[in-house]
Amino acid sequence: MSRDRTVDVLVVGAGPAGSVTAKHAAKNGARTLMIEKRQEIGSPVRCGEGIARAWLDELGIVPDKRWISHQVSGARVISPAGHVVTLTEKMAGNEVGYVIERDNFDRMLAEEAAAAGAEVMVKTSAVEVLRSGGRIAGVRAKHMGQTFDIRAKVVIAADGFESQLGRWAGIDTSLKPSDINVCFEYTLKHVDIDPRYNDFYVGSCAPGGYVWVFIKGPDSANVGIGVQLSKIKPGERGAAKRYLDAFIAKHPNLSKGSPIREVAGAVSCCQPLDSVAADGIMLVGDAARQIDPLTGGGVANSCRAGKVAGEVAARAVSSGDTSKEFFQAYEKGWRAKFEDQMYRNWMAKEKLVTLDDATFDKACEVLAEAELEVVNTLEILRLIQRKYPELIKEFEDLIK
Ligand SMILES: Cc1cc2nc3c(=O)[nH]c(=O)nc-3n(C[C@H](O)[C@H](O)[C@H](O)COP(=O)(O)OP(=O)(O)OC[C@H]3O[C@@H](n4cnc5c(N)ncnc54)[C@H](O)[C@@H]3O)c2cc1C
Repeated sequence: MSRDRTVDVLVVGAGPAGSVTAKHAAKNGARTLMIEKRQEIGSPVRCGEGIARAWLDELGIVPDKRWISHQVSGARVISPAGHVVTLTEKMAGNEVGYVIERDNFDRMLAEEAAAAGAEVMVKTSAVEVLRSGGRIAGVRAKHMGQTFDIRAKVVIAADGFESQLGRWAGIDTSLKPSDINVCFEYTLKHVDIDPRYNDFYVGSCAPGGYVWVFIKGPDSANVGIGVQLSKIKPGERGAAKRYLDAFIAKHPNLSKGSPIREVAGAVSCCQPLDSVAADGIMLVGDAARQIDPLTGGGVANSCRAGKVAGEVAARAVSSGDTSKEFFQAYEKGWRAKFEDQMYRNWMAKEKLVTLDDATFDKACEVLAEAELEVVNTLEILRLIQRKYPELIKEFEDLIK
């Protein structure tokens, strides 16, 4: 018996981007199906699990102990020589926040999508796109060895960093090596940590990236690293793990810990793409390269873009117009929310990756001594300028 079927909106991928999109498409009346290639949504986790609190309200996500592992009151940036810049909640607004259980968080979002009326199928992979008259019209899918076609008025590519759907649809999502950070992370138990702060170590310990220590509980933390791909020798495998192991070995409070989980993956650190839609298809989340290029955090932007995509998809279905032109409403919507910040943070990242350890030390020393009221790029640059004007030359375009 043929399993071919037709829906209004087909969402490929049940990460945060897919589930939030599916929820809002279904909530706005579209017959929505979300397919996920893994057998269990949210598992295995590929994330440092650090998120800010600020954006949850915007999406109506209510903090819940089922997916919040720990709440921090601030963050610390630590330079190679050990200068510590402490960012408290008062200074950073509620940009600081939670360390989550990402598997439970993703499942909660998928449950919300289902509660809004979206159908969910796991162990179901999109293997190619279907076209009709030049536009994307669905996907060929595989479930338990069976291949079938799912036709849809709107396809949402929420298939993550390794996304193939966008490429299959002819949307350029390619990345330069300097816009990719390769990551490796351990969850360590029995470590000595300050549970008040998530820590970010910058400098040559993590070329073109940073080491993070995100607190999961009184004696456990996600300790991970991102290293810019262009700073790794071509063909060198396992470089991120090697840098992280070297870092941990130098920190006895961490090296005494026992690893209970290993995570490997990659994040994009690029400028916003020019276009993330074509006739019949919109890209959301990591598939659309919507990660914050400075922090490598992508959960918030995936969800925020997902809400817009879901609403626009439902409107496109009811208006009978699923063209790229109609999807400009999605392009405008997500760009209004975070494109400027993405661009600014990409510029900042481009500068930061050029700094040597001595410069990181000087910058962190100034900031550690200053009594910062609020944290913003301009304030930080002005402070550094007072003591080390020569350092600011690097950042002149950011002060303008
Ligand atoms: C090591 C690491 C640490 C990170 N730490 C943080 C952090 O601390 N904070 C933060 O905010 N962000 C972090 N990120 C980034 C964050 O994980 C992503 O931005 C986020 O997961 C993006 O959500 P998404 O829904 O776009 O993609 P994903 O969460 O990757 O979901 C995509 C889904 O699509 C499915 N899929 C793929 N192809 C197909 C297919 N053909 N058919 C069906 N299903 C398919 C996948 O199985 C997956 O479930 C980290 C990333 C890495 C790699």
